[in-house]
Amino acid sequence: VVGEDGEVDFKGKARFSQHLSVGDFTKSKTISQQRQNLPIFSVRDELLQVVRENQVVVIIGETGSGKTTQLTQYLYEYGYTVNGIIGCTQPRRVAAMSVAKRVSEEMESELGDKVGYAIRFEDATGPSTVIKYMTDGVLLRETLKDPDLEKYSMILMDEAHERSLDTDVLFGILKKVVARRRDFKLIVTSATLNGEKFSNFFGGVPIFNIPGRTFRVQICHSKTPCEDYVEAAVKQAMTIHIAGAPGDILIFLTGQDEIEATCYALSERMEQLISSTEQPVPKLLILPIYSQLPADLQAKIFHKAEDGARKCIVATNIAETSLTIDGIFYVIDTGYGKMKVYNPCMGMDALQVFPISRASADQRAGRAGRTGPGTCYRLYTENAYENEMLQSPVPEIQRTNLGNVVLLLKSLKIQNLLDFDFMDPPPQDNILNSMYQLWLLGALNDVGDLTDLGRKMVKFPLDPVLTIVSMLSVPSVFFRPKDREAESDAAREKFFVPESDHLTLLNVYQQWKANEYRGDWCNDHFLQVKGLYKAREIRFQLLDILKTLKIPLTYCGPDWDVVRKTICSTYFHNAAMLKGIGEYVNCRNRMPCNLHPTSALYGLGYTPDYVVYHEAILTTKEYMQCVTAVEPHWLAELGPMFFSV
Ligand code: ADP
Ligand code: MG
Repeated sequence: VVGEDGEVDFKGKARFSQHLSVGDFTKSKTISQQRQNLPIFSVRDELLQVVRENQVVVIIGETGSGKTTQLTQYLYEYGYTVNGIIGCTQPRRVAAMSVAKRVSEEMESELGDKVGYAIRFEDATGPSTVIKYMTDGVLLRETLKDPDLEKYSMILMDEAHERSLDTDVLFGILKKVVARRRDFKLIVTSATLNGEKFSNFFGGVPIFNIPGRTFRVQICHSKTPCEDYVEAAVKQAMTIHIAGAPGDILIFLTGQDEIEATCYALSERMEQLISSTEQPVPKLLILPIYSQLPADLQAKIFHKAEDGARKCIVATNIAETSLTIDGIFYVIDTGYGKMKVYNPCMGMDALQVFPISRASADQRAGRAGRTGPGTCYRLYTENAYENEMLQSPVPEIQRTNLGNVVLLLKSLKIQNLLDFDFMDPPPQDNILNSMYQLWLLGALNDVGDLTDLGRKMVKFPLDPVLTIVSMLSVPSVFFRPKDREAESDAAREKFFVPESDHLTLLNVYQQWKANEYRGDWCNDHFLQVKGLYKAREIRFQLLDILKTLKIPLTYCGPDWDVVRKTICSTYFHNAAMLKGIGEYVNCRNRMPCNLHPTSALYGLGYTPDYVVYHEAILTTKEYMQCVTAVEPHWLAELGPMFFSV
């Protein structure tokens, strides 16, 4: 696809998406003008009527038509918040936060006042909140305390097409709420044309289509399969920037590391270009976006570039449908995305890179046609699109570990999980395997009922070991700025505990505490202040749950072997043994797994015979993320179902 000279050669054949009416987009519009310009505004009255006349409605509309930001406001203006609040669920945390912020601006109210959001460990709502955006996981946990969701007059299940695990479980639960509460309304929205499925699930409810307003998008497939899509994407972006008409660029990649690498490569190319020519080079604003990026950096993607500059947004599939960015004229689609996949033979989830589905490819291309006619460069062949990609993605519930779902449904008193009303039931093997894992951990008894421990586990959205789990719940606290890699690596090494990445995290937290939780101390040691504050907040919340449940807290003091043993007792199912130089294999199935380069053990060149790990990720190789050395006899003692001396 990309020649030695850096020219990108695409097949000339172009395809066009449907060309509908053309909207008027100018730069300076007041917020209310912008609102009235959205496609959804033209059908406001019809929408309110169909909602008034039906208990459940499915609403289909292109990304950017105004579903997420406008529907809640219409319903509020119409009076649906008199007897309860409006809840709107999102599969992604980033979307919940950013949309709540936008809507509070549109309603000229402080965030957390009339409009708020709630994500795990963070509740930005208040007594006057009437529109609450939240992740579907948050609503799911609320059903534990309040099975009829009394405080809500209606729920909007947004982005239902994503079919996230929690959305799918909510479908089954909300169907029951709808049957029990005649005063409760449910709206299901989707950006793709699978409305029939949702409608049928609720017994054939009406489907409302918001008329689209998109521009034509020219699609260019690459001629040959692409060897290195990061490199190809960088070259394509540079070609557009140098020779293409004005318009911002959106690149789809799979994850954080790749995105950072791409941003870095782009800035390097720009520097080379500037130093190799006398001519003025137009500015390129390179902006990453992925779910773990701090919120203030995420917000940058919505800011307009200054005149003459071009934005290049480098994103995960988060920008496919959950966030709408105006001004994109070029999309570069690598054809890959990350998905969590449960491997029943390894008994765990792995985040794996997969080719996307045709539905996702079309969504990605559509992002280029929101503001005017655009172009989508696909870094894969037309043959791959037609013959290799799946029609639509496999729902998460069919490919993930169901441990938490089983715990939750069990505590909702759903005895026979195989009978639960799933839209697409998960494979029976996955359910049974997850139940087996919960039995191993002592959460289920021999007849499959929740034990006391299991009931306690439901209250914790996490694995135990307080400070460490708090640290594992935030993005990496180690800060590694460009150009200062060596310096920051050296700072990180000072925190290393030779036997354990978990203890390294504990060490960071304890030293931060010893330095009065100071921000300047973090900066001096290349640590992310915000991440640490977040970890501290999460720790306090978990402490609260412990107090409520009257679970006594045991301090480890200076005896860190106790902590390693505790970690071993939780993670014995993720054990690996040394096989060759620096090579590990999973103890149960002999699958290879390697120390990650960011691991303290890797950094110090320490390769113990046995380790346990927090999670496995498959990128270029199978890597273990967050590793702790353990004694082999601990494995036999703590995981006797698997190991013996
Ligand atoms: P949908 O849910 O149908 O995909 P949204 O309601 O999310 O559409 O977005 C409608 C419009 O609102 C977008 O096209 C964009 O112009 C604007 N918008 C949404 N979020 C933001 C934001 N955070 N900042 C600025 N504009 C936004
Ligand atoms: Mg939306």
